[in-house]
Amino acid sequence: MIQVLLVEDDRELRTTLAGALRVEGYEVRAAASLADAMALLAHSDIELVLLDLGLPDGEGEDLLHKLRSLKGTPLLVISAREQDGLKVRLLDAGADDYLVKPFSITELLARMRVALRHRGRQVAAAVTRYEQDGLLVDLAAHRVCLNGEDVHLTPTEFKLLARLLRSAGQVVTHRTLLTDVWGADCSEQTHYLRLYMGQLRAKLEADPADPKRLRTEPGVGYRFS
Ligand code: CA
Repeated sequence: MIQVLLVEDDRELRTTLAGALRVEGYEVRAAASLADAMALLAHSDIELVLLDLGLPDGEGEDLLHKLRSLKGTPLLVISAREQDGLKVRLLDAGADDYLVKPFSITELLARMRVALRHRGRQVAAAVTRYEQDGLLVDLAAHRVCLNGEDVHLTPTEFKLLARLLRSAGQVVTHRTLLTDVWGADCSEQTHYLRLYMGQLRAKLEADPADPKRLRTEPGVGYRFS
C-alpha cells in the first residue's frame, strides 16, 4: 500500500480527500499543520505528499523546501491560490504538480499516478520509446514517426520534444524547458519556446491551432499529454 501524507487544515476537505484516497487503496496519514506534517514525515514511510499552502502554523512552501533538501518524495501542491508566478515558483522548487481548488478527485488521482510513475522511472531504466495514437518517438534512435511516416525534426525541436516526453503527463515550466534545452543563459527567452512549440505543433498535431499532444499551461509552461 502506498502511504500518502495529506497536509490540509480544512477539516471537511481533509476528510473528503482522505476518504476518497482510501477507497482507491492508498494508506492516508493526515496532518492539519506544518508541525504535524513534519512529525509524520520523520516517523513514517511516506511515498507521496499532498500539500496545502496556507496552514495555521506557516506556509506549506517551507515544507516543500525542507522535503526537497532531504529526499525525493513526490509532492503535489493543492491550493486555492492560482497565481501563475506562484505555480512556477513551486514547480521550479521541485513540486511535481499543482492543483487549484476546487479540483476533481479523478484529476487528483490521475496526477498522483503520473507523479508516482515518474519516480518509479527514475529508479528503473529510462524509457526511450514512446508510442501513442499514431506517434512514435524513439529517443535513442533519434527517430520520430507520425502515422507511419518519418517526421524530420531539427536538433532543437527534437531536444524540446524529448524533454517534454521525459515528463509526459506533467507540466514543465518555461524556465525548466529553456534551461534544459537551450542552457541556463537562455532561461528567460520565452519567445524561443513559442517559436519552437509552434514548429513542433505544425509537424506533430493534426490541428496545430487546437493541440492535443503539446498542451499549453497558460502562464506556467507546457505539458505533453
Ligand atoms: Ca489552508
